[in-house]
Amino acid sequence: MRKIVIAGNWKMYKTQAESLEFLQGFMSHLEETPQEREVVIAAPFTDLSILSKNLHNNRVLLSAQNIHWEQEGAYTGEISGSMLTEIGVRYVIVGHSERRQYFGETDETVNRRLKAAQRCGLTPILCVGESKEQRENGETESLIVTQLKKGLVDVDQQNLVIAYEPIWAIGTGDTCDSPEANRVIGLIRSQLNNPHVSIQYGGSVKPNNIDEIMAQPEIDGALVGGASLEPESFARIVNYK
Ligand code: PGA
Repeated sequence: MRKIVIAGNWKMYKTQAESLEFLQGFMSHLEETPQEREVVIAAPFTDLSILSKNLHNNRVLLSAQNIHWEQEGAYTGEISGSMLTEIGVRYVIVGHSERRQYFGETDETVNRRLKAAQRCGLTPILCVGESKEQRENGETESLIVTQLKKGLVDVDQQNLVIAYEPIWAIGTGDTCDSPEANRVIGLIRSQLNNPHVSIQYGGSVKPNNIDEIMAQPEIDGALVGGASLEPESFARIVNYK
């Protein structure tokens, strides 16, 4: 059976004080959902420790937004997996399109980060997806197959979540049609050797489209950016029917 994972990606938003204010509001709106529905918040590094101290149950799990591939060393500005697990972090986003676009992330560095995450027991959320131009040129399928092939070399598919995030749908309000997202996610699944990997959709997921997205048979959750910043809207998404 595939697990449902709904994750909020806060990106570079929220100070510690703001993250605690969010948590208070969010927890009060969270409904009882089936056990297999995991709720994850991917917060900035500086918020993770204080969030961890204030999450007294396992209902909400924490994620980082990046990880370095070495365990320690002279890597100014980087954070390692053991630094994350020590403070209770369970997931890490790897290869988000913003990291690929602005910070030189490649399929090779994505692969190193995925393996580093798994070595220390974190579950990586691998992001893949095409740009508008790639979609218009009919390159969506080949691009995604390449991202998976190169990204997943020697990666353990027993401990992995994948997020299909078409770049043109991120932060634009231009959600990918749910049947089309379902089709691409089916293609992603066909490339894997483990049929139990949970595959999320990400890109302008909102309270008003989550039900339709989650009704698709291939879609096992969502990676939510903008709509995860506001407690009520993220709770509505997590509480989808
Ligand atoms: P969005 O971002 O929901 O604001 O489109 C999604 C993401 O970047 O993960």
